[in-house]
Amino acid sequence: METPENEIFRDSIGTVTKEGKRAWVFPKKPSGTFYNYRKWVSYGLLAFFIFSPFVKINGNQFLMFNVLERRFNIFGFPFWPQDFHLFVISMLIGVVFITLFTVAFGRIFCGWICPQTIFMEMVFRRIEYWIEGDRGKQMRLAKQPWNTEKIKKKGLKFFIFALISFLIANVFLAYLIGSDKLFEYIADGPLSHISNLVSLLIFTAVFYFVFAWFREQVCIIACPYGRLQGVLLDNKSIVVAYDHKRGEGDNGRKKFRKNEDRKALGHGDCIDCFQCVNVCPTGIDIRNGTQLECVNCTACIDECDHIMESINLPKGLIRYASEDNIEKKAPFKLTARLKGYIAVLSILTGLLIGMLFLRNDVEATVLRLPGQLYEHKDNNIISNVFTYKLVNKTTKDISNVSLKLLSHKGTLKLVATKDNFLVPKQGIAKGTLFIEINNAALSGDRNKIKIGVYEGDKLIETTSANFLGPRSYK
Ligand code: SF4
Ligand code: SF4
Repeated sequence: METPENEIFRDSIGTVTKEGKRAWVFPKKPSGTFYNYRKWVSYGLLAFFIFSPFVKINGNQFLMFNVLERRFNIFGFPFWPQDFHLFVISMLIGVVFITLFTVAFGRIFCGWICPQTIFMEMVFRRIEYWIEGDRGKQMRLAKQPWNTEKIKKKGLKFFIFALISFLIANVFLAYLIGSDKLFEYIADGPLSHISNLVSLLIFTAVFYFVFAWFREQVCIIACPYGRLQGVLLDNKSIVVAYDHKRGEGDNGRKKFRKNEDRKALGHGDCIDCFQCVNVCPTGIDIRNGTQLECVNCTACIDECDHIMESINLPKGLIRYASEDNIEKKAPFKLTARLKGYIAVLSILTGLLIGMLFLRNDVEATVLRLPGQLYEHKDNNIISNVFTYKLVNKTTKDISNVSLKLLSHKGTLKLVATKDNFLVPKQGIAKGTLFIEINNAALSGDRNKIKIGVYEGDKLIETTSANFLGPRSYK
């Protein structure tokens, strides 16, 4: 079926030519109210992204995602592999929260919060404007032959981009391995930790590639969240939108002519100046309607507002609005879908808070040694052998730790460890232990036993295990 003329823009993306080559986007430097707000939000977020792995709360790194050692800190709260369920719930809350926001406000996360946009538009792009100038100058520089001016500008840009990519790679590594380790490696010298140096150079190359070359393609092609817009958005979602009713009027858009009565001629307020297209970092024309490529960066809102001001028309031809708002002047309303997401989000958040309160600083696991049954000893004593593992999730050593059998009368003996031992901070203590119980106190071949973990006289954790005994034929 042939695509209708007004839908032809959907057959291609603005960053690829008809021949399938990359169409480089030279966006005009944005300016205006929204851009100023975004700048301040970006400064705050940049400080957050850069300093989070170096700030500590109670000795815990504020944010850490140590995948290799499976240790995660979120807002200074340490998560161990044993807390995986909490981590999963936190991630689910993140997903539902972003989904809720997307259904209500479209891709607002991309334009205002996403690190890709923040670094691309507020760091790399601004350096580019500083070195190469605005859109027109950049286009001329790209076309001109490699003369001294071009070599100097491109060389300086390459050097600064590579340096910033290297710094970002260091921060990224601090998220992954922890800032303490990063400082330790730096102090030891790069050649003492070759694998670390190689990772650092790979990350640097990836960041350079993304911000110097791949750019908006991340949002258009690679980002899975961008792909989801098609299913999350509906007519009620508030997105960066062109008011086509006002812009097109009855007789469509038309170039501006001084002293012409556009209203009488039936033309809309859009003067077809293309400034909203020129400023767009993803190279699209927002007048075609909501598109997957739009990252809601608001640059076109600012640009169109400048134009409207200059021709004495009200601002807001491009603005934050839903399709229903433009078509039917319908105000924003909480739909059943949004209410559903809010309910799920509240339940998950309540669950997480409850679990965080119930979470212990020490986690104990006692398991029967695989392949071992029980031993029948003198005086009708039944003995089982177990392995134990104690995880100290705090940043302080826990000393004078002992284990006691709580559920039955019997004895608990540690193998090759003192009765009062130490569990190191953010570390593990493990070993083997025997539990002996008189057969008369058992109620069959499988008995649930309860073991207490004490710090001195204080019970800090309890755990249970299965104790095997002879079958009972009573
Ligand atoms: S900037 Fe505004 S007036 Fe100019 S083309 Fe875009 S929508 Fe029309
Ligand atoms: S259409 Fe407007 S809001 Fe969307 S990416 Fe382009 S400039 Fe940004």
